[in-house]
Amino acid sequence: MKVKNTNGTATRSCKCGTWIEHWRNFSGQLATICRAKGCSRKDIVGAHVKKCNSSDNYEYIVPFCNFHNKQSDCIELNDRTVLTPANKNFTCK
Ligand SMILES: [Zn+2]
Ligand SMILES: [Zn+2]
Repeated sequence: MKVKNTNGTATRSCKCGTWIEHWRNFSGQLATICRAKGCSRKDIVGAHVKKCNSSDNYEYIVPFCNFHNKQSDCIELNDRTVLTPANKNFTCK
């Protein structure tokens, strides 16, 4: 699956504290490295993304390193990476 970073979201937060904690809380997975395919950097953040080539226009959180968090192109994710909805109505409202 490919995703694309969304802009202007850095200042938003939720009660999980950080977006990477939000992802951990709702994905049921452990985040240790960036989930971009082929990347193994550990300086990860909870990146806001949307799906590429999809009619699904919701925002999701995935663990990306600082490098991939700044890319503007579509990024292929590692298989089995869970996309956690960024919308608090679906998660930690
Ligand atoms: Zn949260
Ligand atoms: Zn990366």
